[in-house]
Amino acid sequence: MAAPAAAESTASAGTSGGTDYTKLVDPFVSTAGDDGNDLPGAQAPHGLAKVNPLTTPGRNHSGYDYDEDHIAGFTATNLDGVGGSGGGGDLLVVPTSVRYDSRPAPGSYAHAYSHDDESATPGSYRVGLGALAGTGSSVTRAAGTIDAEMTATTRTALERYRFPEGAEPRLVLDLANNFTSRTRSTLKATTLPDGTTSITGLVAGSFNGASYQLYYAATTNIPVTTLRSWGDDGRLSEASAQDGTDTGAVLDFGTSAGRDVELRITLSPISAEQAATDQRNEVGGLTFDQARERTRADWNSTLGAVAVHASAKSDPGATLTKEFYTHLYRMYALPVNATSTSGTYRGVDGAVHRTNGFTYYDGWSTWDDFRKYSVEAYIDPASYRDMVQSAVTLFADAHASGKSLGSLTHSVPTVRWERSAVVIADALSKGYKDFDRLDEAYPALASYTGYYTGAQLRQGYIAGDPGTTVQRGYDQWALSVIADALGKDADARKLRTQSTMAIDHLVKSGAWTAPDGTEVGLLTPRAAGGDWQSADHEKFEAAGLYQGTLWQYHWYDAYDMGGLIEAMGGAKAGRAALRHMFGEDSAADDGSAMLHSNANEIDLQAPYLFNYVGEPSLTQKWVRAIYTGTTWNRYIATGSTDEAPSSGGEFRPPVKTRVYRLSPHGFLPTMDNDAGTMSTMFVAAALGLFPVTAGSGQFQLGSPFFDSTTITYPNGARFTVKADGVSPSDYYVQSATLDGKRFTNTWLDYAQIVAGGTLALTMGAKPSAWGAHTEPAYSLNTDAGDTGGSGTGRGGTVVSARPGTVKTAADGAVDGRVRLAL
Ligand code: CA
Repeated sequence: MAAPAAAESTASAGTSGGTDYTKLVDPFVSTAGDDGNDLPGAQAPHGLAKVNPLTTPGRNHSGYDYDEDHIAGFTATNLDGVGGSGGGGDLLVVPTSVRYDSRPAPGSYAHAYSHDDESATPGSYRVGLGALAGTGSSVTRAAGTIDAEMTATTRTALERYRFPEGAEPRLVLDLANNFTSRTRSTLKATTLPDGTTSITGLVAGSFNGASYQLYYAATTNIPVTTLRSWGDDGRLSEASAQDGTDTGAVLDFGTSAGRDVELRITLSPISAEQAATDQRNEVGGLTFDQARERTRADWNSTLGAVAVHASAKSDPGATLTKEFYTHLYRMYALPVNATSTSGTYRGVDGAVHRTNGFTYYDGWSTWDDFRKYSVEAYIDPASYRDMVQSAVTLFADAHASGKSLGSLTHSVPTVRWERSAVVIADALSKGYKDFDRLDEAYPALASYTGYYTGAQLRQGYIAGDPGTTVQRGYDQWALSVIADALGKDADARKLRTQSTMAIDHLVKSGAWTAPDGTEVGLLTPRAAGGDWQSADHEKFEAAGLYQGTLWQYHWYDAYDMGGLIEAMGGAKAGRAALRHMFGEDSAADDGSAMLHSNANEIDLQAPYLFNYVGEPSLTQKWVRAIYTGTTWNRYIATGSTDEAPSSGGEFRPPVKTRVYRLSPHGFLPTMDNDAGTMSTMFVAAALGLFPVTAGSGQFQLGSPFFDSTTITYPNGARFTVKADGVSPSDYYVQSATLDGKRFTNTWLDYAQIVAGGTLALTMGAKPSAWGAHTEPAYSLNTDAGDTGGSGTGRGGTVVSARPGTVKTAADGAVDGRVRLAL
């Protein structure tokens, strides 16, 4: 593969000025087959424009499949890592010398390419495409290659094509292309005063039930000699405007103007005029090379906020360091910046609003990635704050529109919103205050989450549907945190009570008996009358579950882990169940005893739960095994695929393999990165700070991968995690200090991290008892309720919503008496 060469094996804080972090990123990781669905194309951090090669005849959900050997062209929108049929894929541009006399057949777009002549780094992609000639009905391979280079700024896709000597330079702009559904496309071509051509219009589509409409302005760098367009009738004419479902244009360029043809496509949720304005503001004065360099520099400073120092002992071959920066890079794909350069955004109510100073993000996937935001919180607090404000704004605008979420038209491709309340509660619990319009968002969030009424309230669960019950519980708990922040005390109490119903009513005592005879309660489906229903707890999608098993959904309500363990029968029962979940109580070495799934999001927190039952060394063991080693994997992420020898959501037989690999086959089959979820979990695991209870202010400590990792905040505060003596075989925590003082808890508060400081762990080859007697982490069952149900229990943290600065108390206190201005 054409991976970028790593200039250095380490990226240390001390040399961050000279480190090019972009060289530690490999954008081809997880781009093959169904093993991640990531894109290798060019994008800026949280960029709306994502220029990605579209492979043909096969593609994965991002449009590109590393295992395919032809590229059709380049699309400008993408929901990186999602499943389904993929989101986006708009504005396909095809460089060609084929002559067309009617709407080009997409089959005529196929250019041969080789990975030997392909490269990508953050913000940049290039490939040599086998040139094509002939006519629309008879395409032949021509001599030479088209050098196709892509870069992107936040809103603009910049595409540069160098045609072979003597070839007819031509671009097809195919507006019908979309990964899922194209509902409308328009174009209007005009010749600009300098002789170049502008094409503007809109594309509308949908993905996973969410409709969107996005405007564009595309400009050429040289005059177009002939522009022909097509509409729904497929006829190619010199009409300068089209409006239909299937529209597009064929642009001929004279050979006299040179062989380099550039197209700049700027995207805008507002209007085509705004797209043109944004193009002027964003790249008007920049050459292609200058734009590419600016985005590279942007990535370098973004990635450089986290400085890893890895020795040859901790990271032999430097592969872990490269994996870390590759996954950190993926974290910045979604959501996207959907704000115009004029500071406006289009709300889900359909109206254009001013942002009042914050960046409006859109392109959500919160069922999958809600835990991601807790990690964003400690790596990039300013962006995190604006993302949460954006989620608040989305629900406030939805409320104002009076429509349900499913019937709204969005401004960019988006996926889903479950756990949005958790994302918002997460910020409130971390001490962020002063979100605009939280009171307006609340009714829409409450309506989306739902209360129990009538028979469901009397019985305390949804009959026969434990999966929905536990997921509603998480949202209700999160909504109770929001209700507290709004002073809605009665609502908060009601929601907190309802949030524990899944645990109170669906954990069946003695549902499983441990080898030593310990009776263990487990999540079990129940009929309307109260009778327990029979279900195989290990069976994928039993009891109407979505993409998981009862064992995996059992742990879902991480905000009440204390209550759950009590309901299971106490710490001994909890320990036995967790050991069983990971096959610790089985001698079988065939994967049959591995009940945890690495392939999907449902129980990503499970490896960290040993921290709650007095066995943190097993958390350390499993974190390292899953993220950096080899483990048995029994489950995949879907019941309907032939991607692996599989049936019914399981590998047949189970496979013992690495889950995360620095390779195009970067993840397990069917393991979508889902808006960077899996990548962000890798980042959290590598740092040792994992968001088990997203929605709270806490992080569980695992087993850091590197000698030291330092996060630098905008005000200069730094938080460093040290792992003295760490190596692939020395990953058990022996002892710890926090700012020089003995530290025995397995969790940290957010305020302690962003205030700056040093968590220093001493690592060794053998399990120790460190952390076995931790103070209990946040759990609803011990929440006194006087901290807003938020979970830090430490009080006093105040984070105001003014962008730009992070201030710590004069005494540098990390005990919670910290004031942050973000
Ligand atoms: Ca998934």
